[in-house]
Amino acid sequence: MILLYYFKLILLFVVIEICLSKEDNAVYNLVKDYNLLQSTETDFRTFYSDGKEVEENFNEQLFRIIEDIYTASAGRSHGEDVSIGSYCSNRYLDAINNLTFTDTRQRKIAYDFLEFFQSYVSSEEGAFSWFEPSANTDFQQCADVMMQKFPSTASSLPIDDKIILNKEVSKIVWDNVDGNVIVKCSDGSSYHADQVIFTPSVGVLKEAHRELFEPQLPTQKQTAIEKIGIGAVMKIILLFKDRWWPTSFSGISFVWSGDDKNKTFPRYTKHGKTWIFDGTALLPMKYNPNVLSFWFTGDTIPIIEKLDNAEVLEGVNFILQKFLKSSYNLTTPISIIKTQWYTNPHFRGTYSYQTVASRQLNSNHVLGQPLHNRNGNVTLMFAGEATHTSYYATVHGAIQTGYREAERLLKIIGPRN
Ligand SMILES: Cc1cc2nc3c(=O)[nH]c(=O)nc-3n(C[C@H](O)[C@H](O)[C@H](O)COP(=O)(O)OP(=O)(O)OC[C@H]3O[C@@H](n4cnc5c(N)ncnc54)[C@H](O)[C@@H]3O)c2cc1C
Repeated sequence: MILLYYFKLILLFVVIEICLSKEDNAVYNLVKDYNLLQSTETDFRTFYSDGKEVEENFNEQLFRIIEDIYTASAGRSHGEDVSIGSYCSNRYLDAINNLTFTDTRQRKIAYDFLEFFQSYVSSEEGAFSWFEPSANTDFQQCADVMMQKFPSTASSLPIDDKIILNKEVSKIVWDNVDGNVIVKCSDGSSYHADQVIFTPSVGVLKEAHRELFEPQLPTQKQTAIEKIGIGAVMKIILLFKDRWWPTSFSGISFVWSGDDKNKTFPRYTKHGKTWIFDGTALLPMKYNPNVLSFWFTGDTIPIIEKLDNAEVLEGVNFILQKFLKSSYNLTTPISIIKTQWYTNPHFRGTYSYQTVASRQLNSNHVLGQPLHNRNGNVTLMFAGEATHTSYYATVHGAIQTGYREAERLLKIIGPRN
């Protein structure tokens, strides 16, 4: 038996930011005793594209409305054909229509916040548009801990020499006459196993499932892959020589006015889409005092990922100047790194979401079901966040699906010493 898993230790540390809940959370249970968890501050400021800050109390009021609507959307049933976008926008507009504004600027900001609300939700959902994920959900420093290398390496699991990295699986032949599974890799090597657990992202499966499996996956599994959603969010990491933000800084949101959004910005527009509108939030990086991370969300991510760094830097500077120049002594980033989750052929997106159709078909469950060969034996199993029916899109969901398939395997092969 072999277990092929591109274990992405470094990526885990880049990615994990939020341990979303304590209850039934595999990550929380793994790290809770090691002083690795910290609570985060939420003292956020918001700037409007007229270059002025949104007044603090009004900003809080709008955020409370957003939080109340979005938080209330979790774990409930809203009718199976409702997207999170229509659920949230209807409720937001109802709430805004009942507000009293001190002036027309406030009124405009409140309505323009709807677009920001979409970006906020899209970053949580990992979707390009908030009209894609379903409104329904059951969703109510860790690799070393899993490998038992932390807090001491003395009791490490003896598996390092069994992990093979830098192997791209190009074909899994899962229904052979001799009952074996053959895993073929793009470097020409191949491995034979009784059972295989495969854990790629649903983005990879969407793109390659027809070529990856021999024979092809059953129709129900193919439909599940097609129906589960995956989009992308993007972080642009900015390094500054001199820090222009205060040490108390905990982040900034950007809200574009409807008037600005009607203007054209040809330098920052590709394929008819103006990507600077999708810059959503600027966050400090706790252990990197001269670094900020700029989050982008929306359907321009595939475009931004392909821009060269100089173009991205120019656009980022444009946004910073437009929103913040009258409030801070801005400096220019000296270096940037941008994530490329969508372009990367091993991810093709960030994290999955449930669509209206995938919920109706229970696609996460279907994707997690094992395949049997012609002799009726389980040969190919699936794990990974998208196979979790409620904690999809999360690290703890991904870990739990690994445990689920390991238990399935143990039942098949029986206990070993
Ligand atoms: C920017 C960002 C922020 C996030 N924030 C959080 C957060 O705060 N909290 C949280 O809980 N979750 C968060 N997540 C989500 C979390 O990282 C994922 O849900 C989780 O990592 C999914 O794990 P996985 O093992 O299912 O899939 P993946 O992490 O996608 O791992 C699949 C592995 O398969 C490999 N692979 C793909 N194709 C092949 C192939 N053909 N051959 C061999 N190997 C292959 C890939 O290289 C990869 O290593 C975030 C994700 C991103 C991108």
